[in-house]
Amino acid sequence: MRDSTSDRSSPDERSGYASGEQAPEEEAEVIVVGAGPAGSSAAFHLAGAGVDVVLLEKSRFPREKVCGDGLTPRAVHQLIRMGIDIDSPGWMRSRGMRWVAGDHRVHIDWPSLGRYPDFGLSRSRHDFDDILARHAVAAGARLRGGVKVTGPVTDRAGRVTGVTAVAGGQERAVYRAPIVIAADGASARLALAMGLERDKNRQIATAARRYYRSAERSQDEYLELWADLRFPGSDHYLPGYGWIFPMGDGRVNVGLGALPHRRYGKADLRAALAQWLARTPHAWGLREENADGPVRSAALPLGFNRHPLYTRGLILVGDSGGMISPWNGEGIGQAMEAGEVAAESAALALALPQGPRRERALLHYPVEMNRRWGRYYRLGNAAADVVFSRSGFQPVLNRYVMGSPFLLRTLARLLADLTDKPSRDAIDHMLNTLVRLVPAPRVGRR
Ligand SMILES: Cc1cc2nc3c(=O)[nH]c(=O)nc-3n(C[C@H](O)[C@H](O)[C@H](O)COP(=O)(O)OP(=O)(O)OC[C@H]3O[C@@H](n4cnc5c(N)ncnc54)[C@H](O)[C@@H]3O)c2cc1C
Repeated sequence: MRDSTSDRSSPDERSGYASGEQAPEEEAEVIVVGAGPAGSSAAFHLAGAGVDVVLLEKSRFPREKVCGDGLTPRAVHQLIRMGIDIDSPGWMRSRGMRWVAGDHRVHIDWPSLGRYPDFGLSRSRHDFDDILARHAVAAGARLRGGVKVTGPVTDRAGRVTGVTAVAGGQERAVYRAPIVIAADGASARLALAMGLERDKNRQIATAARRYYRSAERSQDEYLELWADLRFPGSDHYLPGYGWIFPMGDGRVNVGLGALPHRRYGKADLRAALAQWLARTPHAWGLREENADGPVRSAALPLGFNRHPLYTRGLILVGDSGGMISPWNGEGIGQAMEAGEVAAESAALALALPQGPRRERALLHYPVEMNRRWGRYYRLGNAAADVVFSRSGFQPVLNRYVMGSPFLLRTLARLLADLTDKPSRDAIDHMLNTLVRLVPAPRVGRR
């Protein structure tokens, strides 16, 4: 596998771009807006398919991104598909999850499946996004850092033919391509500019995280999740969970995410975090004096909350398409997988003449995304509405489930979407059948 971390020159330098030297107009076959996991993965797969792709990113790498930094086996699978060297230093492996609820504390190892690896990873997004962007550049993508996209360029028919941007802090630039991929994250500015509003019936979760220096917990083999957190100063369970993810570098990423409660509304996440951490053993070091940086929070668009995922030359991937799993709040692997599917659709479309045949290939993208996650997310959205947004994970992590290894394994695989298809064991059978019974959502078109 290629070592993507050995070259320490910035990806901007490698692509020959320096601040202030940006040409006012640039053309490509595909423009990708945003170099998070969705955008870099899309750009990598496009470049690998021989497509001329420009990747526009408003920040400069390396940069922070507010995240839990935890990767389940599905996300690891995407990294392996990209040829990222996950054996190089800096990647922290996890054997599974540790769930804490009340007096119960259980360990659930990642399952051994044919489709996915049996380990997870953690890596700070500061490094992770940089590695992915470099990988896309090494594959042939042209990364333009410090370029903030301001809006779409459209033709008379309202079809996207490029984007406008502000480069180098002030200079206006235009980037033109017949296909544009919006990977600009939860703000989804490009989608909004094309009239793609989010579904107001879908709840948006919020999450807050902070790094702590903790020699005691930094090398933990498990991703730890706490299901019994409460609203600050009250007995009501928080409709979410807390996490302690080992970073392997002397630090842990600690945070909590929650849906708005159906009755009590949004929780004060910072206060809830402080209240929770005060409960943790002093030896873990999760106290103010060991904090590495401030508490930072951001929104999590869940369960396909924006449609259609393709319209008039614009493809939505990752958070811009609301692709975070409503089951567990995980979005990195989903963003990468969607990036790969978008790249496949765009590469196929470009091999076809402009017109209806090309359009059909692009319209296949939402169909494929719906085939992969439509039913599973629909069920997850229902679970979020009916269960998680009222009582968090308490009802599912009850005494009975916590005492049954089989039920725990089943629940863990449901939450992290880990099954083989076709089914290979009883849990696969149960979960695959359950999801198949859910009516498929309609693919939105516009
Ligand atoms: C507190 C928190 C904890 C989380 N924990 C986890 C976790 O542990 N595991 C997990 O799998 N998921 C987690 N998530 C979700 C995960 O962070 C997202 O789902 C994921 O980052 C989505 O990737 P993306 O590429 O779609 O968007 P982003 O990662 O947001 O990337 C978007 C990129 O677009 C750029 N951009 C934005 N606007 C413009 C513009 N106008 N012009 C140019 N560039 C632009 C941004 O700078 C950014 O680089 C968490 C989220 C939060 C908020």
